[in-house]
Formats: sequence, C-alpha cells, structure tokens
Amino acid sequence: MTVSATRARALVAGNWKMHKLPSEAAAWLRDLLAAVSASEDTAADIALLVPYTHLPGMAKLAFGGPVALGAQDLSSHTEGAYTGEVSGAMLRDVGAAYVIVGHSERRAYHHEDDALVNAKLAAASTAGLVPILCVGESREQRDAGEAGNVVLSQLTGALDGFAFTGPGSLVVAYEPVWAIGTGLTATAADAQEMCALIRQALERRFGQEGSEVRVLYGGSMKPSNAAELLAKPDIDGGLIGGASLDVADLLAIAGAA
Ligand code: PEP
Repeated sequence: MTVSATRARALVAGNWKMHKLPSEAAAWLRDLLAAVSASEDTAADIALLVPYTHLPGMAKLAFGGPVALGAQDLSSHTEGAYTGEVSGAMLRDVGAAYVIVGHSERRAYHHEDDALVNAKLAAASTAGLVPILCVGESREQRDAGEAGNVVLSQLTGALDGFAFTGPGSLVVAYEPVWAIGTGLTATAADAQEMCALIRQALERRFGQEGSEVRVLYGGSMKPSNAAELLAKPDIDGGLIGGASLDVADLLAIAGAA
C-alpha cells in the first residue's frame, strides 16, 4: 500500500460484540498470539474489544504482548450507585487500553445520544483509556445527501470539551450504519471521502496533532475488501466486527494494512 511520510501505523481493532465465552476466548487468543509471533512483521497494531467478562482472563495472556485489549462500552460515571454499569477505572484495572464509545448498536438499542457519548468519551479519557469513537450515517441519511453533515455533527457533539493530549489519545471510526453486520461495504472512494472529512475536522479542532489521529473504517470489512480500503490515504485501519471472530480473517486484514 502507499504510505505517506506522516501516516500513522494502522490499527486493526476487532469488535467481538456479544460473542464467544470467556473460556473459548483464552484458547482463541493463544492461537492469535502464536500466529502473530510466527509472522515476520505485522503491519498493523491489533486490538480486541471484547465483552467485560473476557477481559481478566485474556489480559493475563496478552500482558506485555503485541495484542492490546479493550471494552465495547463504559459508564459515563466514575463510581457510585449505578447498578449494572462498569467504569473506565474498572476496565483499566483488568487490562483494557481501549474502549469503544458511541457504537451505532449502542446508539440504536440503548438510545445513546450525543450528550451521553460526549460524557462517555470524557469518562474514558479520565480513566486513561483510549476511546474509539464511532460515527456514521444511516442509509436514509446517505441517500438524502446528509452523510457528511451527520458525521460532522456526531463528531462535534462527542468531542466538545474533550481533553485531547495528542494523536494517541483518541481513535475515530467511520462506521456507516447500513454497512455494519450487513455484508454491505462502503466503496473505498466513499469511505476515503468520509475519513478525509473526519481528519479535516480533527485538524480544525486540534491542529496538526489532530490530523494524526487514527481514523478507521468499519462496516463489513473482511479479507477480500480490506486491501482496497486500507490503501486509501485517510483510512488508518479498521474496526472489524464479524471477521474479527476468526483468527485467520483478522490476521489477513492486519496483513493487508
Ligand atoms: C462493528 O461492529 O463495528 C462492525 C464494523 O461490524 P461488521 O464488521 O460485522 O460490519
């Protein structure tokens, strides 16, 4: 792939959603770690965003190694009487480095709006986690020519007041809602256009360092389409759902970066 001089190292982040048991995850991770160490050089950083229950066991295996771990959500609160919630500090304590914030499934099924996403982003950063902020338009919004406006508005809402401390303090994932888990993928040109728009907005807000934030594409990325998407200059990696459940597929995507 063509890599510009300032381009960040790619990040391939697997979103396991609510799949696999903790006991299965340990064996799976052993296979991944063995495959990564057998490969000469992984062109991408790899992270796994797994259910909370999987983190302690997986962290024991992953500690100090090439695969980072993270969660798929966190509470906007730091501590207190919030039954069922999990704080950023708890996640850090069990080995998470990353956390997804604002995934479209959370926005749709748990009614997370921009204000809550904003609070969760702040909570992640306070806890020392790197948030992977998801933004993306619906099919109707794209058909109405509103994709750019929707994504910029989600970005603005989420980042208001965010304590940006450099390119490593944030990851943004452009995830068109209609492409998630559907087998439909944005064309590489459309994905590039939206990721470039996000990068420009990050630069306007945070200056040069903002332009170096990793911007990922997510939405049915798989081995067969990863190389074309990842070759685009403003796509710094992928947020991968379905294909991240398979060691070979995840490695093939990382190898395409
Ligand atoms: C996701 O869950 O963020 C995602 C992109 O899923 P999939 O790759 O399955 O479309």
